[in-house]
Amino acid sequence: MAKFTDIDLRAPILRAVEEGGYEIMTPIQSKSIPIVLAGHDLIAVAQTGTGKTAAFSLPLIQLLLSGEGKRKPKTVRSLILAPTRELAIQIEENVRRYAKHLHYKISLVYGGANQNPQIKSIALGVDILIATPGRLLDLMDQGHIKLHEVEFFILDEADRMLDMGFIRDIRRVVQKLPDKRQTLFFSATMPKSVEGLANSILTKPERVEVAPTATTAEKVEQHVLMVPKNMKRKLLAHVLSDGALKRVIIFTRTKHGANRVSRNLEQLGILSSAIHGNKSQNARQKALNEFRDGKIRVLVATDVAARGIDVDEITHVINYDLPNEPDSYVHRIGRTARAGATGVSLSFCDHEERNYLRDIEKLIRQKIPLMDNHPFHLEGMQPADYADKDDDDDDSRRGPRKGTRRGSPHRRGNGQKNNQKSNGSKNPSNSRRPNQTASLNEDSGPINKKKNKNRKHYRPSKA
Ligand code: AMP
Repeated sequence: MAKFTDIDLRAPILRAVEEGGYEIMTPIQSKSIPIVLAGHDLIAVAQTGTGKTAAFSLPLIQLLLSGEGKRKPKTVRSLILAPTRELAIQIEENVRRYAKHLHYKISLVYGGANQNPQIKSIALGVDILIATPGRLLDLMDQGHIKLHEVEFFILDEADRMLDMGFIRDIRRVVQKLPDKRQTLFFSATMPKSVEGLANSILTKPERVEVAPTATTAEKVEQHVLMVPKNMKRKLLAHVLSDGALKRVIIFTRTKHGANRVSRNLEQLGILSSAIHGNKSQNARQKALNEFRDGKIRVLVATDVAARGIDVDEITHVINYDLPNEPDSYVHRIGRTARAGATGVSLSFCDHEERNYLRDIEKLIRQKIPLMDNHPFHLEGMQPADYADKDDDDDDSRRGPRKGTRRGSPHRRGNGQKNNQKSNGSKNPSNSRRPNQTASLNEDSGPINKKKNKNRKHYRPSKA
């Protein structure tokens, strides 16, 4: 395990690292820093939580030393582009920490905030500018920022940038950069589109890769809790009654979902805050600070808003909704188990989300263990009411059954786990599923879809 003192970092930088409490480099740091210090372009495949921010910040801070004092009005010596304001703020905090014994001008520009202080902070030129693409272009168009002096360009979370539709913005920014520059490209994943972008903006890059998706996932103790959609609220209350869940992030797919969950928690007397795209920057920052300081126990977030949240010692991540993009699952659970710690993730999965679960398990190449000791497990394991029996290919017979309700509590078995019929259900659809009694776990679970010829069983009816 390499130490920071093993590589050629200058004393003021090493001192700052030491004061931050770090001694041993993480793998992305020991692989990347020497390459960057040697002046090469770099593609680094690494996720949040791997220590990637220091992997590009430390050598950048060192390389900028050679031209100290070269600032010109409105110009930028190095540019770090990040997809969200939370991540940009996080990077800025890190960079300031690592450069605290040096005299750099460090600025931050992002949207959703008054532009005037940002313009003022760049007026005399900056050594390190951290920016989100939209506001950066805005200020460039207004003539407040010029990029023709950029010596170092860093693109962070490139895959997320593309997901968020920033490709044209990135290309516009790159067009304004000088050809002679050093470029560092960080991405959690490398699908073809991201690879294409990398090839178009890097010159003879070295490539390093750490913590493939599965590795991060392996550090987190993961569980899936099967639950009908309409029982998720109660399940959440049940789960949070355990004091072991000290610092918790709850993820929802939508902003409304986040607000709803936060309101429910309020009714339960649990202090929480929601962060999502409709919240002002100040409100988000306040929520994050309160969460970090332990004033609130629970943060409710959407995927986009949660990017770049750097809060240590998150004990649990709860996926109230499963994400429809499997990558997001890995990002989510990576909020716990940061920098070597371990954490727990609890994923609530209703009938409609079983396909998402299957995709996630495929990506992380592991089956997420089922947690069955919760009050709604039996109902959660039941197939949706609108399901047809396995070998029924007659389309006209699909669709919700009259008089049935998905996840209806009346279908709960009397503790007879594998015997639906014996619960005396009035639900007519039960009688049409003769095979399920013997293999409920397999047939209704997400894992055994091959056996289960007709996947529409677990999808909402289009009718
Ligand atoms: P990042 O992947 O940059 O978001 O960093 C994840 C977390 O690891 C942050 O909380 C950092 O402060 C922390 N960290 C970065 N480098 C190290 C290191 N060498 N040793 C321990 N923790 C680190």
